[in-house]
Order: sequence, then structure tokens, then C-alpha cells
Amino acid sequence: MTLEQTLPICVAGTWRLGGGERYATRYPATGEPVAWLNAASLEDVEDAVQGAHQAFLNSGWAQRKPHERATVLYRIAELIRQRSEELAQLQRQDNGKPINETRALVASAAGTFQFFAAACETLEETITPSRGDFVSMSVYEPMGVVAAITPWNSPIASEAQKVAPALAAGNAVVIKPAEITPLLALQLAQICEEAGLPKGLVSVLPGKGSLLGDALTQHPLIKRVSFTGGTKTGKHIAHIAADKMMPVSLELGGKSPTIVLDDADLDHAVAGVLYGIFSSSGEACIAGSRLFVARALYAPFMQRLVAGAARLRLGDPADESTQMGPLISAAHRESVERYVALGLAEGGRLLLGGQRPSGGIYDQGYFYPPTILEGLGNNQQTCQEEIFGPVLVALPFDSEAELIEQANDSLYALAAGIWSRDYKRAWALGRKIQAGTVWINTYKQFSISTPFGGWRDSGLGREKGRLGILQYMEQKSLYWGMNEQPLAWAGAEARP
Ligand code: NAD
Repeated sequence: MTLEQTLPICVAGTWRLGGGERYATRYPATGEPVAWLNAASLEDVEDAVQGAHQAFLNSGWAQRKPHERATVLYRIAELIRQRSEELAQLQRQDNGKPINETRALVASAAGTFQFFAAACETLEETITPSRGDFVSMSVYEPMGVVAAITPWNSPIASEAQKVAPALAAGNAVVIKPAEITPLLALQLAQICEEAGLPKGLVSVLPGKGSLLGDALTQHPLIKRVSFTGGTKTGKHIAHIAADKMMPVSLELGGKSPTIVLDDADLDHAVAGVLYGIFSSSGEACIAGSRLFVARALYAPFMQRLVAGAARLRLGDPADESTQMGPLISAAHRESVERYVALGLAEGGRLLLGGQRPSGGIYDQGYFYPPTILEGLGNNQQTCQEEIFGPVLVALPFDSEAELIEQANDSLYALAAGIWSRDYKRAWALGRKIQAGTVWINTYKQFSISTPFGGWRDSGLGREKGRLGILQYMEQKSLYWGMNEQPLAWAGAEARP
């Protein structure tokens, strides 16, 4: 296929041109088109949902035994692995992340399918203690058609986290990837087909969220929405879900504190803080974007941190040694720049960065350097709002009580990091920090077996974990009568 040809999209098992506007996806490192495709139209949404509903009812997928569904999921994992380098290169072009990061994301997607295949075949339904002449059981049923709505920052990994448990549970899925990064979701649909998943169970609808995502969420045949993205969009989806009485899971934004206590191992803390905020160019929901450092350590720690950040290699995502690639788009870089200007207007001082780099590839793509601000208060806008870029605000603290109050003083509560050599102290602090995930002496580490999600404006519900599959199932209680005699209430009248 040549670049100019229009990529088909996947609507209910049929590969066809989308009915919406033609547009190009662009490589953020150069601004060059990667692929042309037509966005999905509202008719495509209708066809995808109706087709998924039919596939759910008629393909026999929901009725297959769990170990049979698992076999297909294992095959999907295997095919992702077989094509991992090609997928990682495509994702690098799709969203501009350095190649080493996209390789890890592809590997994680394969691992997610493998994990939920295992969760599916080992899921137990329970016999509950009976309190009468019956056997009582708790069982699970698939829901029907599920919508998976994903952002642009970790394609294929975010889609896998929704599609794998949804399919494992016996559902059909309609994926709505971010408009600007649809290529990996389309590849995933192809892989599902190749792995033998019945046609129509997976559709991919690229295009505008305000049109397609909204229509999908409102559709009466959509029985659940699993959403990852911004808090504003998540709240909008929650309102629609409330009207439909539909379960949703919302993985939203963050402004996560990383905390360096006065007894921290500085080598570990510097490396961890740098990785926490600047990997993925800060385009991560769990980015450790608010740094709290014990005042006694503040000056020497910041000196080392700034020196370390200045050495980070910002550049070509295809280069194996690159640590930070470009931001996703020109518009997003402008938004990051506005936040840095705001930070300065609020009285912040720049310790590093704050200027677009120039020369060579920097002039073509949407690059922005590691940027560190100090001199701000935790209650200022720059410290409260999610920037979603490589911008760190550093705040010294005096007492642990003050630290806890400030770390928890945020609308968000997604993640946190603590650096300390005293494990009892770190444990006690970790229990007091309000966040869905707390890392102690590490940061941004994940395992699919550990549930993930946020508190407050960072979201609702949990993904991952062995029980993550239950998020895509309805629970049902079954009572199985064992009475020798008819129920007594109707008395003799009920007997012949
Ligand atoms: P976004 O909310 O703009 O878009 C996310 C997805 O929702 C896209 O597919 C978009 O097209 C769709 N969408 C937009 N409007 C919609 C509507 N009205 N109805 C239904 N769908 C709609 O977010 P983004 O800019 O793509 O991603 C960045 C955000 O995602 C950040 O806030 C980040 O913190 C968050 N995020 C959270 C997690 C997490 O796990 N908590 C992970 C990654 C990203």
C-alpha cells in the first residue's frame, strides 16, 4: 500500500473506507504524513455497534468455554509478539515515542492478552453457603457490546488493557482510538481476525471523539464504556452513563507528587524522579509532575536533578539512544508552552528548559526540552493542573504534616512516589498519601497483575489485575431448588 492510498477501517468485520473526512496521521518528529484514512462516520458507528451486537448474539463466542476463548487470546498475544518490531516502529511513527518505549508498549500488549487468557480460563464461579433447601451460586455473564475509548499517548497498550478482558469475558468490543493515533488499533483488529476471533467482535472507529465517541457512549446497545483520557471528557461520559444506568470505568488525568525524604538514597531518587516526569516526554497520566523535597536536601538534590535532566537525550525517536521524543502535536506543544509562561507569571523561576530547542530535527518536529520550575506554591495553577508534558514543579517542604497536606491537596489522586531509606517511615507515609498507586523507591513500574486506577478526578474503577475481567461481566446469583416438597407457603392448595 502506498502512502497516498486511503487505509480502510474495520467496521463489524468488514474492512472498508470510513464514511467521514479524509485525513492524515503525522509523525510528530517531522510532521510528515504516516498514513491517510477516512474517519468513521455516524453510519459507521451504527453499523459497528449493530454488527457487534449480532456477532455477540450469533457467533457463539460468548458460549464458548473459557479455555476455548483463552486459546484465541493466547494466539493474539503470539501474533503481537511475532510482529513486535513492525508494530513498535509503526507506533513510533504514530505518536513519536522513542523506539525503546514503543517496543515495551507492544510487549506489554502481548502480555496483557496472555494474562487475560489465563484469567479467563482460571476464573472461578462460587457456590455460596446455602441458607435453605437450595444450592446457591454466584456466576458471571458477558455484558454484550462494550466500547473501548483510548487516548493518544500509549496506543496498543491502552487498547489491549480494555480489549483483552472484554473479549476474555465473552463480549464484543468497539474501539474508538484517539483521532491522531489510530494505526495500532487497526493493526490489533487485523491480528484478532488472523487469530481466529469471529468476525464482527472487534471494530475500530478512528475520528473525532466529540462525534463518534459521544454517539458510541449514548448508543443503547453499548452496555459498558471503558474510557482512558482527560478528566473533562471522562466526566461527560460519566453523565451519559448515569442516564443510561451503564457501568463505566474512567482512567483520567493526574498531577502526581513524588516525595524525596531527607533520608533518601540520592542516586535512586534522582534517577527515579527523572524517569517519573521526563520519560514519554511527560505525556503520561502517572507522570510525577509535582516534586516535594525535604528542605535540608533541597539545594544539593536540585543541583543533581537539574544536571541529570540537562543530560537527557532529546531527539530522533528512531535512534536507539533517544530518551525523549517530540510531543504529540504542534497544538499540544503550544499548550505546554502556555503552562510554562503561566508558571513564570505566577512567580516561578526556571531552573532548566522552557525554550523550544532548534536546529536539525528540532526544527521539523514538536520537540520540547525537560523543564524544571521552582518558587511556586502548591496551590498555584501550575502546580494544580495537568500539563501532560516534560514540566516539573519543585517544592521544598519542612515537616511531614505539611508535606502530606500539600501532596493530598489536589483534585487528582492517581499516583505518587516516595524516596526514603527508612521502610517503616515510607510505609506509614505511603498509607497516608491519597492515590490509586504509590511507588516506594521506584516509579512508573507496572505489572498487569496489579490493579490500576485513580481516586477523585483521576478516575473511577480499576483496570488490570486477575479480577479485571469481572469489570466486563454482570454478576448473577442462581438458586437451584432441592426441596422434596412444594414450597410450604401456598400450603395444601398448591398440591394436586
Ligand atoms: P481526551 O479526553 O481528549 O481523549 C481521549 C479519547 O476520548 C479519544 O479517543 C477522544 O477522541 C475521545 N473523546 C473525546 N471527546 C469525547 C466524547 N465527548 N465522548 C466520547 N469520547 C470522546 O484525552 P487525550 O488528550 O487523548 O489524552 C490525554 C489525557 O488522557 C490526559 O489527561 C491523560 O492524563 C489521560 N490519560 C489517562 C490515563 C490513565 O490510565 N489514567 C492513561 C493515559 C492518558
